[in-house]
Amino acid sequence: MPTQLYDAHGRPLEYVRLAVTDRCNLRCFYCMPEEGIRYVAREQLLSYEEMTRLVGLLAGLGVRKVRLTGGEPFVRRDLLPFIEQLSRLPGIDDLSLTTNGVLTAPHVPELARLGVRSVNLSLDTLDRANFRRITRRDELPQVLDTLEALLAAGIEVKINAVVMDGQNTDDLISLAELGRHRPVSVRFIEEMPFNGGSHEATPATLPWNHRRIREHLEAHFGPLTPLPTAPGATADEYRIAGHLGRVGIIAAYSRTFCGSCNRLRITAEGGVKTCLYDQGVLDLRALLRGGASDAEVVAALAAAFRHRAANGFEAEQRRPLHQLSFESMSTIGG
Ligand code: SAM
Ligand code: SF4
Repeated sequence: MPTQLYDAHGRPLEYVRLAVTDRCNLRCFYCMPEEGIRYVAREQLLSYEEMTRLVGLLAGLGVRKVRLTGGEPFVRRDLLPFIEQLSRLPGIDDLSLTTNGVLTAPHVPELARLGVRSVNLSLDTLDRANFRRITRRDELPQVLDTLEALLAAGIEVKINAVVMDGQNTDDLISLAELGRHRPVSVRFIEEMPFNGGSHEATPATLPWNHRRIREHLEAHFGPLTPLPTAPGATADEYRIAGHLGRVGIIAAYSRTFCGSCNRLRITAEGGVKTCLYDQGVLDLRALLRGGASDAEVVAALAAAFRHRAANGFEAEQRRPLHQLSFESMSTIGG
């Protein structure tokens, strides 16, 4: 049995988000500039062997759930054999991934076979021209194919839509409508400042915060019925009368959910973030490549997790002075 690790605020470590690459085939406006970000050299990315070793060690600290993200996970070669390796690790019983859906559809049957039960699919609009403007690529049909393939395979689908003032706020209702006849959860995410310098930092008073998103949905659909949330969940979920699926609202910038946060992030370069808003608290790649033993890696991970900030505001304050918008979610592993 693993020893469950807790931080100094009594929160357990149960979940790791692993960025398998910083590279991406889209250029979403809220994530990176049009010209892309400066990718790290290939050999600076953690290898699959290094990631498998880390996840095995994290399982010994109580982690049960792993989400693969990036960058776009499917642009990294041999992703599926890697997922297969992870699926064999004792203790890991919940494997999921977040994808933009452009390259994903052909791999869906194999994902189902490997036991991937849930996929987060990023989709900010159902309008092709607006999709092209936001992502700077004309790939909406491929993403919609992925949505249908996932549903056909019986994989749980959560749609992630970032709410951007003046960019896709006219699209929120049609996105929520996806759940009328489909068993999907459509989750609206507050825009965060991590855009790799794509545009100005998010204002302190976010124009579309979680309250306004809810009001906007309720003005159209009537009162939303709150649903119970799982421990550690970031989305407040609601039922809309007459819908098979659900809607969710993620207060990613307002940071209302930190009190039950049960996760850490490993960036594609092997940096550890114990909060989205910290600047990285441990360099795992240096440890692994410096020949650290399993016990040394575990001790470093445990120390980093124990000392994490109480919430995203404290984590942000602890950063040396530098704008959050210098970072891209593609490197952090959103
Ligand atoms: N490329 C994959 C994708 O887009 O699904 C996985 C990586 S992406 C960084 C993970 C999630 O972060 C996506 O759902 C994306 O919408 C979200 N994201 C990226 N930049 C964001 C920002 N500035 N604010 C809020 N969410 C953001
Ligand atoms: Fe790529 Fe995902 Fe960032 Fe869009 S949000 S640019 S798909 S990493």
